Amino acid sequence: MHGRTGSRRSLRVGFRQLAGARLAAAAALCAAAGLLSAASAQVAAPPASSETARSQYLEVHFPAGQRPLAERLLREGERALQLYARYLDQRLPRERLRCFLYATEAEYQAAEAARTGGIFKTNLAFTHAATSEVHMVIQPRLERLAGTGPGMLEGLFAHELAHALQYRVFPSYDEFPDWLSEGMAELFAERALGDSRHCAAQVPWFGVRVHEVLEALDEGRFVPVERLLTEGLVEQDPALRDLKYGEAWALCRFLDDPVNGEQTRFRDFVLEVARMPRGGRPLVEQARERFLALWPDVIRLERRLIAYLRELAPQCPPWQVPGRELRLLPDGGLVCESFPGNAMMALSTAPRRLGGVARIEAEVMIAPLGHRQADVFFAYRGPLDAYKVAFGAGNPPFVTLMRNQGGRWQSLRNENLPPGTLQPEQPVRITIDIDVARVAVRVGERPVLRYTAEASAIGGGRWGIGCYDGRAIFRQVSGRSY
Ligand SMILES: [Zn+2]
Repeated sequence: MHGRTGSRRSLRVGFRQLAGARLAAAAALCAAAGLLSAASAQVAAPPASSETARSQYLEVHFPAGQRPLAERLLREGERALQLYARYLDQRLPRERLRCFLYATEAEYQAAEAARTGGIFKTNLAFTHAATSEVHMVIQPRLERLAGTGPGMLEGLFAHELAHALQYRVFPSYDEFPDWLSEGMAELFAERALGDSRHCAAQVPWFGVRVHEVLEALDEGRFVPVERLLTEGLVEQDPALRDLKYGEAWALCRFLDDPVNGEQTRFRDFVLEVARMPRGGRPLVEQARERFLALWPDVIRLERRLIAYLRELAPQCPPWQVPGRELRLLPDGGLVCESFPGNAMMALSTAPRRLGGVARIEAEVMIAPLGHRQADVFFAYRGPLDAYKVAFGAGNPPFVTLMRNQGGRWQSLRNENLPPGTLQPEQPVRITIDIDVARVAVRVGERPVLRYTAEASAIGGGRWGIGCYDGRAIFRQVSGRSY
């Protein structure tokens, strides 16, 4: 059951390529992870183009031209490691932890295949058990926009460093229960990004987890805590895997949050697991037994956990991000990013759904990068059934209404716009009216697209924003039903 994977990894990194015609068959994760042995790892040399930057406890290998990014990650990584080491009551290892950043997914996949045989191919980041090395793609691969909060890149880096350090200091780390190692790695990352405090209320990368766990609860997909304690987190179904990661993080965060009065007991438990004897009963079993001795009433614990999340949810940014990157600007603006050749999508949680008569409004600014396209989604009933309006700042600029049926996006109507209507770096007000079977789009005051569905009404569903292969900034986004 609890297949030893020989490496820890980060998930939730946009398995779905929503914009192209494809929905990537998510996750070629191998359920028989135990087949892989850490010792069999063939360690490939870093790509020839890579440069190196070092700090006291870290060494980052990065592609040419990424020195400012690498140095920033070094600084943040040092602070993160200090934080983790203090919590774990460990000295930081003298030998530097190594992190390899890749410019492309192909380079990452080559490095991953050499070490773990494709098991973490879709993750874009993993930590190698035998060497404690972190490998990850720089994505989105561009300079951070000034003023935006931390996001996926920083979140993944901090998460993987938590694994890397523990592989180095705890000989039994690879045998830890998944919920504990992944939940703690994400908890550590959240603290590292929040300057030692929780930051899910400011950073969508973490806030998303709260919304997803509660949504699963309401839809009957929540994995009971008692099961989480013994089950692995490696799942064929990426949604279930993601949910388990979210629940694992939520459980650790709940137990470790001083407001819940369990913090000391929980930290002692974590350190106790690290000292449990190896070679006899599996660590997962020993840890479970100890957990149930400390918190015998799991049902009550679960209730308290849910109440905690319910209280947290309204403070978190009201967006779920199925893939890629959403960051916040100080003025509340939303930065959508996806590179390269990928779509990004954020679905609103407030209100979660719009009815069949609705209006979506936003101010949009498209960056002069990549494909220069901003997307607004509506009547979203899943990744295989949705509509979107794509705004392109191309030459000529365009507006396209698209429908996704069975995973394929098809254009229902495309209108080219007069030059100057949509220009990179120029904010424009967009309005989308959905009236049962009709869609009407305005850019500023100008009506630019009108479409009437012939066969049936468009219907209601979830709604959201996003972009394709580039960067778009949304401000004052609202969705209303009538
Ligand atoms: Zn992980």
